[in-house]
Amino acid sequence: MSYRDLLKDKKRIVIKIGSSSLHHPETGGLDYTKIDVLVREICDLKNRGKDVVLVSSGAIAVGRRAVGIAADELKETSKKQACAAIGQTRLMMVYQKIFAEYNHMAAQVLMTKNTIVDNLNRFNARNTFMELFELGAVPIVNENDTVATYEIELGDNDTLSAVVGALTDADLLILLSDIDGLYSDDPRENPDAHFISEVDDLDEVMDMGKKSTGSDVGTGGMNTKLQAARIATVSGIDMVIANSADIKVIHRIVDGAEIGTIFKAHRDDSFDLPLYVQQMHK
Ligand code: GLU
Repeated sequence: MSYRDLLKDKKRIVIKIGSSSLHHPETGGLDYTKIDVLVREICDLKNRGKDVVLVSSGAIAVGRRAVGIAADELKETSKKQACAAIGQTRLMMVYQKIFAEYNHMAAQVLMTKNTIVDNLNRFNARNTFMELFELGAVPIVNENDTVATYEIELGDNDTLSAVVGALTDADLLILLSDIDGLYSDDPRENPDAHFISEVDDLDEVMDMGKKSTGSDVGTGGMNTKLQAARIATVSGIDMVIANSADIKVIHRIVDGAEIGTIFKAHRDDSFDLPLYVQQMHK
């Protein structure tokens, strides 16, 4: 039996989708077909008895488009926060509607760094997640961009998804992105770059994350994905990075197919999530 076969038995799955994967690149408008397939895949996992959390970016990008501001013009923090407030509700309305079409419940959870660092906040957040699983709902998580500024923000949803995985005792994290997985170098710049399908020792690949994906809608690059892999793997969570070009990879990954890059879990019981989060970006 291969390592990938073990993914069939995963019970609690966190799926992260980036802003660039939710939009048509030509226009910046939401790609409803993709979102529909994403929700259908998640509902099907729910029907297979799994708990699923969706970490979705897109608040700022959707809000920015609603008010007609170009990406390179959105510099002011307060403006970004206002766009997030507008975009988050629009995004949730779309998710809510499609989840309801498949007879599933969506629930919004917005977090900041403080949610993890503060003991009472973390305790409450964890209990809420557990209750939502119990109720059969799908938590849809984003950073609370409307109030989060530098001191309290996690900064990117790759990290957020790993943190959510650790907080909720997830056993699989799937990061859907605009890249196939981890390459030894940036494949758009270096034709000799080779694909890495399995990572057992994270320290051996940590340097490969220096190049970004180059996408202008989200904040994550490969570096943030490797940081996420650090949090996930020491928390005992297998993590897969895969290309969101075909959202149906989700069920194929869960069925054990060799898709994307898998980072194997190596639980480290000494890992202290709140301390780690507190020390990030310092
Ligand atoms: N939280 C941001 C948003 O929803 C995105 C962060 C990210 O893409 O990593 O707009």
